[in-house]
Amino acid sequence: MAVERTLSIIKPDAVAKNVIGKIYSRFESNGLKVVASKMKQLSRADAEGFYAVHRERPFFKDLVDFMISGPVMIQVLEGESAIAKNRELMGATDPKKAEKGTIRADFAESIDANAVHGSDAPETAKVEVSYFFPGMEVYNR
Ligand code: ADP
Ligand code: MG
Repeated sequence: MAVERTLSIIKPDAVAKNVIGKIYSRFESNGLKVVASKMKQLSRADAEGFYAVHRERPFFKDLVDFMISGPVMIQVLEGESAIAKNRELMGATDPKKAEKGTIRADFAESIDANAVHGSDAPETAKVEVSYFFPGMEVYNR
């Protein structure tokens, strides 16, 4: 077990629903600390750069349009196995397939508007944390 840092985003649908606090409370009651945070209206370039790995996917344009449709809340979470723990709390990408009690099952409507983002591996966590919090140290192996 190792203390890790991961990047989390509360997407525009969940910010609009006024459930930032409820989602933060899931992190806090499951051993994850918010160690950096900011609310931001992403530009198209911000969102395209962040999701560059999905550039060739058919849903890329819709994903970017959605991510810039309103402000997002961006945070770095820290804790034991933070990357996997956050993914577990988020639930499956498609909220209809997400396990009961997960953030996506409870707060998301569709695969497009699915409430949260979370890094999926140590390498992506490192890249994603520095994308929004340049200079922040990450030691995930
Ligand atoms: P996750 O966010 O669970 O890591 P992915 O990295 O595969 O999922 O995809 C990034 C985001 O792109 C998803 O959260 C979702 O908003 C969107 N997405 C993924 N697959 C689809 C799809 N088949 N149709 C529409 N949107 C999708
Ligand atoms: Mg992903």
